[in-house]
Amino acid sequence: MSGGHVEEMRGEVFKCQRCGAPLDISPETIVAICPYCGYPNWINQAFTHPIVIVPGKARGLDRVFYEWLSIDEEMKHLKDKVVLKNIDMIYVPVYYVSVSASSHYRGKATVTLTRTRVIKTDKGTRTEVQTRYITVYVSGNYQDSYTIPLVARRAADRRIIDPLIEYYYGFLEKRENLQVPIEKVDWKDVKGQVLAPEIGPRDAEDYARDQACESMHKEVEKRMNTEAREKAALMSPGWIPTFVSWHYKIIPCRTRIENITPIILLPMIHAYYTYQRRLYRAAFAGWDGRKVYSEEPVTQGARIISYIGALFASGILGGAGLAGIYLGGEAAIAGGIGLVAGLAGSYFLTREALKDVEVEELE
Ligand SMILES: [Zn+2]
Repeated sequence: MSGGHVEEMRGEVFKCQRCGAPLDISPETIVAICPYCGYPNWINQAFTHPIVIVPGKARGLDRVFYEWLSIDEEMKHLKDKVVLKNIDMIYVPVYYVSVSASSHYRGKATVTLTRTRVIKTDKGTRTEVQTRYITVYVSGNYQDSYTIPLVARRAADRRIIDPLIEYYYGFLEKRENLQVPIEKVDWKDVKGQVLAPEIGPRDAEDYARDQACESMHKEVEKRMNTEAREKAALMSPGWIPTFVSWHYKIIPCRTRIENITPIILLPMIHAYYTYQRRLYRAAFAGWDGRKVYSEEPVTQGARIISYIGALFASGILGGAGLAGIYLGGEAAIAGGIGLVAGLAGSYFLTREALKDVEVEELE
C-alpha cells in the first residue's frame, strides 16, 4: 500500500454548552442532559420543550431494597438468601398527553330479532322460535378525553416502566406537585443516570392522537351496536334483538391536543438481586420508594398454589370479564381485559408452575 489518503471518519463531538463536558449522544437523542451540570443541550435548536425532574429520594437506595425485603409477604421469608447485586437510580423521560377525540359516526346494520310463541295443537302446546330481520340506520356524535402516557424513548422495557408511569399518574391526578424545572434543580443532589429523550413533543402528540382514536373507536363501536339493537327493538315490540351485522360503519376521528406535559424525568430505582444463584429484578419509584415491579423466586409452596391458580384463573377472571361487559361503559373495557387476562392467565400460570420466577406488578 503506497501513499493512500486515509480519510478520517470523525463525528461531530458534542460538548455541553454550559460546562464544556463531552456529551454521550446517539443518533436518536433529541436533547442531551449534561451528566455533570444538568444543562439540557438540545441537539436540534429548532425546537425545545420544557423539561422537569422529579427528584429521587436522597436516602440510600439500598435501604429501599431492604425495606421491601422485610415487608413483602413472600420476600420476607426468603430474605436471608437474597443478595443485592446492583442498584441504580435511572431517570426515565416521559410525557402525558391529554387528547380530546370526537366523531360524527354513522352506519347501516341488519338486526336479527327473535320471539318465542306458544302454539296450541290438539296434542297440547309447543313453542316456536320466530326470527325476523330489520335494517336500521344509526348516527350520532361522540366525544371523550383521554390522557395518554408515553416514554420518550425508542425502545423501553415497558413491563417495568409502564407500572412506574401509571403510579406517577396518580400523583398528577391528585395535583401533588413533585416536579422541579430542570434549570432550578441543584444538580449535585441528583444522583443517577438520565436516559436521553428520543421522542420529541410533536411525535408524542401524534402517538397520543392515534391512541386516543383507537380507544374512541372501540367505544363508538359498542355504542353503535347498542343503538342498532334499541332502534330495531322499538320498531318491533315483543321481539328481542340478538345479532347485529353491519353493512357499513363510518367512524371518523377528530382530535385536539388539550395538554402536553413537559418532558418529565421520572426517577426509578432499579435493582438486580440473586436468590440461590439466580438473578432477579425489582424496580421502585425513585421519589417515595414504592415497589412498582418485581420478579420473585417461586418457592415450592408458591409453585403448588400457582398450579391450583391455573385451574381456576380462567374461570374466575373470565367470569368477571363477562360481568364487566354487561355493565357497559367503563367497566366494559376492564371486563374485556379481564376476559383476555383470564384466558391468557391460565396458560401463563401453568407455565409459571414450571418456572422459578414470579413477576409481580403494582396492584
Ligand atoms: Zn454541563
